[in-house]
Amino acid sequence: MAKNDGWTESASEALRWRPGSPVTDIDTSGKPGFDGDKALGEELLASRGARLSELQELLYANGRSGDHRSVLLVLQGMDTAGKGGIVRHVIGMVDPQGVHTASFGKPTDEELSHDFLWRIHKQTPKGGQIGVFDRSHYEDVLVVRVHDLVPQSVWEPRYDIINSFEEDLASSGTTVIKCAMFVSLDEQKKRLQERLDRPDKYWKYNPADIDERGYWPKYQEAYQAMLDRTSTAGAPWHVIPADRKWFSRLAITELLIEALESLNLDWPPADFDVEHEKARLAEA
Ligand code: AMP
Ligand code: MG
Repeated sequence: MAKNDGWTESASEALRWRPGSPVTDIDTSGKPGFDGDKALGEELLASRGARLSELQELLYANGRSGDHRSVLLVLQGMDTAGKGGIVRHVIGMVDPQGVHTASFGKPTDEELSHDFLWRIHKQTPKGGQIGVFDRSHYEDVLVVRVHDLVPQSVWEPRYDIINSFEEDLASSGTTVIKCAMFVSLDEQKKRLQERLDRPDKYWKYNPADIDERGYWPKYQEAYQAMLDRTSTAGAPWHVIPADRKWFSRLAITELLIEALESLNLDWPPADFDVEHEKARLAEA
């Protein structure tokens, strides 16, 4: 990483969840690992976006040449945490051809008639793609647990099921980057207020979001269990303080860059004779 870019350590180190630490201690307005301000953060987002885009093109090029590797960004967070903003402002910086985004809302009747990973499997990224999950299989140990949508005997085994699912993904070449975005109750209130004050935001407003605020402590408990039980060596959780949108966007951009750089991608070699083709073109 370039010097003077505001990061005092890598984003993945700074943000990685340490199992056992209390969720209630998360500073939702913090910026762990970054000592720059908003102006620097926004400036960096643009330049790092260019780097992200270059790496994504490399991944895509390799995918086109038969490489099975892919990246999957999993976004979890309460309403208004900024998941949609990540899709628009971070993923939006790369070529949409190489991106597969899926959002997971309330399951349909058909989805409910299958096991909880059925709809998830169908949306995993192909070789060369960056997949993005706006909510994910983790809803099945979050909202489902908080609202007793299935008995504990059903949701409890899901932590292990998820761990082995993600292990399978890793062994088939998918790097899983998990981000839990944490917004404070106060900041959420401001953002919901904005959705009620601005006609261009009504579409994001859901009256049920207010009811969910009453379940905050139960959600915190469910997030604690999720982070502690599904932070594995192959697929660790990152906690993203989300009260400052510029920080959460910058942080996730860095996590993606780190993951892509660790794949050590090169441009795929030509599968034709370059000199021969040049000679043919000259004559054509
Ligand atoms: P949004 O992301 O604002 O479109 O809202 C989607 C809603 O679907 C959220 O309230 C989620 O909690 C809910 N949801 C997502 N997955 C599940 C699930 N497996 N079971 C029940 N509700 C879910
Ligand atoms: Mg919503």
